[in-house]
Amino acid sequence: MAAADRFDEVLALLRAHGGRVTAPRRAILRALIDHADHPTAEQLTADVQVRHPETHESTVYRFLDDLERLGVIDHVHLGHGPAVYHFADDTHHHLVCEACGLVVEVPDRALEGFRRRLRSDFDFEMEPRHFAVPGRCRACSESAKVSSG
Ligand SMILES: [Zn+2]
Ligand SMILES: [Zn+2]
Ligand SMILES: [Zn+2]
Repeated sequence: MAAADRFDEVLALLRAHGGRVTAPRRAILRALIDHADHPTAEQLTADVQVRHPETHESTVYRFLDDLERLGVIDHVHLGHGPAVYHFADDTHHHLVCEACGLVVEVPDRALEGFRRRLRSDFDFEMEPRHFAVPGRCRACSESAKVSSG
């Protein structure tokens, strides 16, 4: 979705649900849209504070909660660190390299075979949306092989 469309659409949704649209909230939404990858609340707060230094981190968290409740965004845990945020309509999962932190986004269908297997063999419905799948990227697994001999 084009950034301008998304910005207007989310603000309209917020207003429709009685949410306040303040200048800091607009700036938080803008920062969220402008982030190329998955920002933490702390990163978003720092972005917004450039132009709205009075914005407190708790304001950012509250707004992110509101957006999450409206189904606009989701949070994901990539590892030990704080949660990161992304837009909910772009369905994907995350592979994260435990050595270098590289995040690979994979489409839902990439997990289809494994999902079917878990369903048929273990009566389990896999929902890996909330957490990343940990592992090693190619560069890190190759350098591990070299250093181990
Ligand atoms: Zn969580
Ligand atoms: Zn994501
Ligand atoms: Zn890596």
